[in-house]
Amino acid sequence: MTPVDPQRARQFAVEVVSRLREAGFTALWAGGCVRDHLLGLEPKDYDVATDATPEQIRAVFGRRRTLAIGQAFGVITVLGPPSTGQIEVATFRSDHGYSDGRHPDQVKFCSAQEDALRRDFTINGMFFDPLSGQVVDYVGGQEDLRRGLVRAIGYPTARFSEDKLRMLRAVRFTASFQFTIDAATLAAIQRHAAEIVVVSAERIAAELQRMLVHQHRACAVELLAESKLLPVVLPELQDVAAVSAGGVSADWQDTLAMLRVVETTRFAVAFAALIRAAVRRWPQGIRGVEPLCQRLKLTVADRKAIEFLLEHEAAVRAARSLPWPRLQRILIQNPAADLLDYGRAVAAVLDGHTADIDHAAERFALPPDQLNPPPLITGDDLRRLGIPTGPAYKGILDAVRDAQLEQRIHSAEEALELARQLW
Ligand code: ATP
Ligand code: MG
Repeated sequence: MTPVDPQRARQFAVEVVSRLREAGFTALWAGGCVRDHLLGLEPKDYDVATDATPEQIRAVFGRRRTLAIGQAFGVITVLGPPSTGQIEVATFRSDHGYSDGRHPDQVKFCSAQEDALRRDFTINGMFFDPLSGQVVDYVGGQEDLRRGLVRAIGYPTARFSEDKLRMLRAVRFTASFQFTIDAATLAAIQRHAAEIVVVSAERIAAELQRMLVHQHRACAVELLAESKLLPVVLPELQDVAAVSAGGVSADWQDTLAMLRVVETTRFAVAFAALIRAAVRRWPQGIRGVEPLCQRLKLTVADRKAIEFLLEHEAAVRAARSLPWPRLQRILIQNPAADLLDYGRAVAAVLDGHTADIDHAAERFALPPDQLNPPPLITGDDLRRLGIPTGPAYKGILDAVRDAQLEQRIHSAEEALELARQLW
């Protein structure tokens, strides 16, 4: 797929509005893209809302240029030329009945104003006319955007009972924009936090991922705790994150400090920093990571990366006193770059210096033939020496490899000689 060019995506989003307008319909940008536009940020994607029905939308853009996957909810996807991405064009709609606590049972087509009222937060509830530059705001979104306030549209309690996922969205938006959360909205989340369990593990994990890859991840985690969502979405952290009469634990303060200083866009790094203090308290230690990751339906790759970071933290924090062959065997593994980011944050907070991480990073930056030179001999060579195949092979090959990495030997001949001696 061609990457989306923000400039062209925006042009296409304007064009979609003009085409609908030329065909006699009302059409406006809607929701998150309006918020981002008003904040001067590049919208991730554009949504257009219109009074045209799905059939009329398809007639305007042609069936071949549209996808009707969301038609039952009044949403038509309009495909743009390469690198413009695609735009969701939705008929103004109101949602009805939320028997599963997540999705509307039914949608009805309605006015723009009613469509605004079904949206979650005032900052997400505005429309924008890209042709005239006019904001269409039925919910006081502009004012809240100016004040930096995340506020539910309508009665917060009702809105969170309809769709529990909104509780996590509130935390994510508040943290990532560095806004504050409206008091009544926060109070409603605190009251309903336990109900977040009706949302699928995948959706919860997706929200957590988005919070944790963001630079304001520490803020998001603090807000998760304050909103009482944290012990429900991550009960495994309950002990560390619990607030007692003396305030929060020193471990939790360290955790938040690590999340604040860690420089990464990688989920595994931030997640490892988030759970490390808890893992150290668990009786099962790192073995508890797998069931946690399974519960959150994380990928195996993420789980392995998280385990790798926790497992090798001590080594990388002592890199200067580690024999090079031991450090080298860690640095040639796939998530080593992540380990440096993770280790740097942990060391900065707990050790107050990062000299060991700097040392490891220097080694990690060695040219590939120095960081990981091809082995001088293999098992085949041992067989040729007449050494019977067996468990001894690993010990010999490892010792020869150590000698090579420590530059005590430099050639295959020296390696064979050493192997013979060891045998
Ligand atoms: P981002 O894309 O950065 O996550 P967004 O606000 O654009 O933020 P989307 O999931 O793309 O979020 O949704 C687009 C718009 O649809 C939102 O701005 C909001 O108006 C509405 N919306 C999305 N999810 C919900 C929800 N769970 N409840 C009510 N309205 C929602
Ligand atoms: Mg969006």
